[in-house]
Amino acid sequence: MLKIGVLGVGHLGKIHVKCIQQTDCFELVGFFDPNDDNAAQVIENQGIKRFEKVEELLNVVDVVDIVTPTITHFELALLAIQHGKHVFIEKPLCNTVEEAETLLAACKERGVKVQVGHVERFNPALLALENTKLSPMFIEAHRLAVFNPRGTDVSVILDLMIHDLDIVLSLVDSEVKGVHASGVSVVSDTPDIANVRLEFENGCVANLTASRISMKQMRKVRLFQPDAYISLDFLEKNTQVIRLYDEGSPDLPKDANLMDLQTPKGKKHIHIDMPQTEPVNAIQYELETFAESILQNKKPKVSIDDGYRALKMAHEIIKTIEKNGDR
Ligand code: NAD
Repeated sequence: MLKIGVLGVGHLGKIHVKCIQQTDCFELVGFFDPNDDNAAQVIENQGIKRFEKVEELLNVVDVVDIVTPTITHFELALLAIQHGKHVFIEKPLCNTVEEAETLLAACKERGVKVQVGHVERFNPALLALENTKLSPMFIEAHRLAVFNPRGTDVSVILDLMIHDLDIVLSLVDSEVKGVHASGVSVVSDTPDIANVRLEFENGCVANLTASRISMKQMRKVRLFQPDAYISLDFLEKNTQVIRLYDEGSPDLPKDANLMDLQTPKGKKHIHIDMPQTEPVNAIQYELETFAESILQNKKPKVSIDDGYRALKMAHEIIKTIEKNGDR
């Protein structure tokens, strides 16, 4: 079993503690958090040991789980890597591209594993597509949240849109050649709502919208590819795959989910599929997957390179918004 310590037991850190306690791949040694109220709640409800100094915790674990505000990620992750510890770090990897490059170099030098908490990669809506060939040419992503002061230490791009940036960059096997973006700061000092258009070398276009000042929640990604329209709902954790077949096509599925459509190109059949996976606790699953990558010496499913790529794209978007005169 791997010995693990948690840094930061605020809103998400408490959930991580619970998930770690439910796994059988980690032994939870303790946590470090300077906030006495949060620490007291975790000691009382989850009965784990509080360490007074980060270094004391680092000295007795194999892995640390960093669930602190984004602006502290770099310092804590670097310290852990320099102590030769494997690091699970919440998204975004860190605050700046320069910090990420320093972490990448340190990780390579010490030969430790780092996984970034892009938890949507473990959402059943996406897991349900593991056997579906994805080759999107147009992507529409909406991530809307009601206002919550947590997370406003960084812009909505780094706080929310980064989830969809990671998903889009993991799905499109091509380089980004153009970025168009606009954003508006409404209640914080950085953009609270933003819209971005990414153009890829292979012709794919991704249109992403993120807001943290909406009246209702939405987390949807829609993929359009030559043979299918795929709709993922990350909030409801479900997926729809819709395909069009010619009349008499040998590939036409034999089940009942068919609708007829008269088109100028003749009669077609629409097939609607809702692929299913086992219900899964995405946070527990990402942590277990990280343990597996350490124990089996495999690349983490969401590696530090993935975290770096999403962060770099996020900063290019932020720069584009600033250049356009928005904040
Ligand atoms: P929070 O403010 O509720 O909690 C942060 C905790 O970290 C606090 O208890 C604070 O005292 C502690 N802390 C601050 N500095 C520290 C340090 N140097 N060492 C140890 N502890 C320290 O924040 P949160 O909502 O739990 O978010 C934490 C992180 O998780 C952020 O990076 C955020 O982006 C990320 N997050 C990810 C998701 C997701 O979907 N993956 C969702 C929410 C938050």
